[in-house]
Amino acid sequence: MDEAERKMAFLFSVRSRGVTDRRVLQAMEAIDRGAFVRGTFATRAYDDTPLPISCGQTISQPSVVGLMTQALDVQPRHKVLEVGTGSGYQAAILSQLARRVYTIDRHRRLVAAAQEVFDALGLSNITAIVGDGSRGLEAQAPFDRILVTAAAEDPPGPLLAQLAVGGIMVLPVGQSDQVQQLIKVTRTDRGYEYEDLRPVRFVPLVEGLGQD
Ligand code: SAH
Repeated sequence: MDEAERKMAFLFSVRSRGVTDRRVLQAMEAIDRGAFVRGTFATRAYDDTPLPISCGQTISQPSVVGLMTQALDVQPRHKVLEVGTGSGYQAAILSQLARRVYTIDRHRRLVAAAQEVFDALGLSNITAIVGDGSRGLEAQAPFDRILVTAAAEDPPGPLLAQLAVGGIMVLPVGQSDQVQQLIKVTRTDRGYEYEDLRPVRFVPLVEGLGQD
């Protein structure tokens, strides 16, 4: 398969797993996953599979990225927070759909590498920050949308508080060594509504900063 065929197959597999939103598919066509996967796994960038990145973390499976993005229902005027920058791939997809994306990771090394890719691709509406995302990003709150790409046992209180009224948060919840549930939290003027989406498996949300 040449490059173009691989990309066609990539989009086909994402679509066949339920990603049907036209804007999400366009974003996934525009953002080359190959730019976010380095070293020995680069040849598998267009497979629908999670892959290892540095700091013992993973870049999520493309169809899961698509399904989470679709569930988030991002609109062009939105300010979005992503917790768990990792490779930066998910943030790059969000940057195509939102006005502004803040993405935060506890590993300095991952944030630096992701920032390099954002610069190389000219994605100027992403702000990447080193920090403990379980506390959210108070200075920029409230957010129209929040996406968490690491699993907590329960939705972190600060993230619930930093979600705008009318806002949506999508996150995996459950014990880190088991299959987790992807859930959608909608904040209304009367409180929070919870909806189960699908079983998923993510690395754990860990409090505090990483070593590197
Ligand atoms: N969205 C990423 C994949 C994320 S993997 C991508 O598109 O590639 C999960 C990430 O969450 C890891 O990089 C991990 O370092 C980060 N993470 C875990 N706990 C965190 C916390 N409390 N605050 C910020 N980032 C955290």
